[in-house]
Amino acid sequence: MAKRTLTGTTLDTIVSLAKRRGFVFQSSEIYGGLSSVWDYGPVGAELKRNVKDAWWKSMVRERDDVVGIEASILMHPDVWVASGHLDNFTDPLVECKDCNKRFRQDQLEGEVCPNCGGAFGEPRQFNLMFKTFMGPVEDDAATVYLRPETAQAMFVNFENVQTTSRKKIPFGIAQIGKSFRNEITPGNFTFRTREFEQMEMEFFCEPGTDDKWHEYWMNFSMEWFKKYGIRGDKLLLRVHEADELPHYSKASADIEYKFPWGWGELETISNRTDFDLKAHSAKSGKDLSYFDDQKKERYVPFVVEPAMGADRSALAFLLDAYDEEGEGKEMRVVLRFHPDIAPFQVAVLPLSKKDTLNSTAQRVHDLLRPHFNTQYDDTQSIGRRYRRQDEIGTPLCVTVDFDTLDDDAVTIRNRDTMEQVRVPIENLEAAIRNQLNEMRADSQG
Ligand code: ATP
Repeated sequence: MAKRTLTGTTLDTIVSLAKRRGFVFQSSEIYGGLSSVWDYGPVGAELKRNVKDAWWKSMVRERDDVVGIEASILMHPDVWVASGHLDNFTDPLVECKDCNKRFRQDQLEGEVCPNCGGAFGEPRQFNLMFKTFMGPVEDDAATVYLRPETAQAMFVNFENVQTTSRKKIPFGIAQIGKSFRNEITPGNFTFRTREFEQMEMEFFCEPGTDDKWHEYWMNFSMEWFKKYGIRGDKLLLRVHEADELPHYSKASADIEYKFPWGWGELETISNRTDFDLKAHSAKSGKDLSYFDDQKKERYVPFVVEPAMGADRSALAFLLDAYDEEGEGKEMRVVLRFHPDIAPFQVAVLPLSKKDTLNSTAQRVHDLLRPHFNTQYDDTQSIGRRYRRQDEIGTPLCVTVDFDTLDDDAVTIRNRDTMEQVRVPIENLEAAIRNQLNEMRADSQG
């Protein structure tokens, strides 16, 4: 299992690799950048899309008891009154009286400013929701918020989804989408940003069965990360102490990953009880209870929520895949992604740029691209192209050489073993599938 011996790396190395290879760029870089805001480049966009697709597949498409929605970022302002966000979604903010730098009080270790040693003023509660205005008039009535979590759309759509999908409890509603939080101290690359994407699922169940489902979704989430290649010894489940629980939660646990700076949260699995449905019923006047036609009983369902960050997970996949092999000039950097997470699965590389090879290589590329996410690369030497594909974690390279013109066969080179096998083009798709399946099995965490 190659996975077990990965070298790992520092955050700085990943940030520079991410820029050099087109994973992540600073937003608005030509204007000096916007602090803590990032853009995914051509390779990073594929990585993040694969992370989201893997989640959607496991969470929605492969299950009978979860359906997906895609709701708007802007919601009725009363949603945030009922959910408690307007009053409670705050962090304690302190400002240094000397240098005016602001910090989250609960993240500080000492009593004085870590920047200049100055004293702090009185802490105040700072609401993390971004405000904006709807329509041309900037008055209070027009104030709306950029959602700080995707979950509320599942609660306010509970009845619409339940009746149209004809799902019976227990069932879940999942969503992937952008959320916004005006974090006081963003940082650590894409780990904590003010605009980010979440993958959340609200699982509605009968009161009394919620503890069992909480246990189930904690296990499911842990297994999901391992299935797609995160090493088990880099993951832990941390159960929250009672004083850490948010106002809506009866029990919560975080799945944490060992980032280069220490353990950090990837996902929280919470037992949200019937808090949200009851709060929205009370505020909107709409009854959100459920009639269980087998038990002939009406109740307000309890909700268990796995809530994961797409950007944080993509960062963990990137860090976890990093490996260095060999030494000095022979050293190669290789990202040992699970094949479903790797930005590209196959690269097609003609040995030379000559027209005679290019048309055959293009034919091979056209043959493969309906089945795999592929990249075509005919620039620079073949050695450099292999290195480049290793650095973006492409599992397989298919090389078209001058012998191909005679034997209609190509060479498949494996990212992890660097073994090369010659395969007739007519068997290529099947041979790639086999090798990818082997790599899937090898990269379980
Ligand atoms: P933290 O304690 O790190 O601020 P949280 O507990 O407030 O996070 P949740 O509200 O549980 O986060 O959100 C679920 C997931 O959304 C988190 O586990 C994380 O992966 C992601 N997430 C939350 N805030 C951010 C952020 N500012 N930037 C990137 N991802 C985030």
